[in-house]
Amino acid sequence: MEHTEAIVQRLRDGRMVSQEEIETLLSVRDPRSLDMLFSAARDVKERNFGNKVFFYGFVYFSTHCRNNCSFCFYRRSNTESLRYRKTDEEILSLSTSLADSGVHLIDLTMGEDPIIHKDDHYRRLLDIVSMVDDAVDTPLMLSPGALPHDVFAPLRDAGADWFACYQETHNRDLFQRLRPEQDYEFRLSQKRWARESGLLAEEGIMVGVGETMADRARSIMVMRDLGVDQIRAMTFVPQPNTPMADRGPSPYLDELITIAVMRLVHPTKLIPASLDVEGIAGLAPRLDAGANVITSIIPPLKGLAGVAQHELDIDDGGRSMENVECVLDELGVQKASRSDYAALLTQWKDRGISEA
Ligand code: SF4
Repeated sequence: MEHTEAIVQRLRDGRMVSQEEIETLLSVRDPRSLDMLFSAARDVKERNFGNKVFFYGFVYFSTHCRNNCSFCFYRRSNTESLRYRKTDEEILSLSTSLADSGVHLIDLTMGEDPIIHKDDHYRRLLDIVSMVDDAVDTPLMLSPGALPHDVFAPLRDAGADWFACYQETHNRDLFQRLRPEQDYEFRLSQKRWARESGLLAEEGIMVGVGETMADRARSIMVMRDLGVDQIRAMTFVPQPNTPMADRGPSPYLDELITIAVMRLVHPTKLIPASLDVEGIAGLAPRLDAGANVITSIIPPLKGLAGVAQHELDIDDGGRSMENVECVLDELGVQKASRSDYAALLTQWKDRGISEA
């Protein structure tokens, strides 16, 4: 307990700790040390962001994918996966309705759809971003899979603010098992190329896919080296009809501890509490662990899917803005204003330009 407290105190004082010390924090399981860890993470969050959270709406506009990730329901060889491609009208209608509901950001997500990932300089993708950017006055995140280097600047010019591309692990052997046929370095470079182009970037890991505690600690260090602006940890949810379908789910506590340690090591970054793992029931523990962004808000009855939980809490409105705001009221947490978020993005983009 004393050793753990000393590491936490060093982080609270703004000093760096070693990868081994991060691993020590990730390994904490006794109730007193856990209380201390979560309480420190909440303090650090409130010191940097107050008692406010940001809301991200989610538009999964194509579930087609050319890849075969072992953990993913939408992998190309899953013939039972739900497949759709939203039309321009549908993408616009979903995006404007999310913007009107007051989200701080719209996350335009797709699998590596072969219709879009083809050799035409990503014209279709750029058109979608620019169409949505023209229609809404809300920041845009793009999560399209891995792209060539020369597409990042046009994406920024089309109106994208953020680029998200999750490595899921920074253990190369495990990466090859999780993302067969994909290149580790090419995927890692996505975050660097995004930042160099003036976009904000998000990196993420999955918890419970066969990684060791040392792997989790290393990921937290790599996130720092990449200089990304948002970092996420999400529990692996076994998906039917995939090679990892029979892998037992990981305890959610592992994700909560990872979030808390990420908050201590990365005090000023945005950290999501995803509704895509446990649905609305999982919101409070993730915010208590230090998260400050609510992601995967999905409007009900629009034929949209989630990623890890493709149906959970969607069509009954459990992941709608209204319902999430009610839950926040009960928790005594405030929704940040749109100007809070705009100011944060401006400050970070200016910093990114000066770093570049
Ligand atoms: S994780 Fe992404 S890239 Fe991999 S199969 Fe699923 S949708 Fe495709």
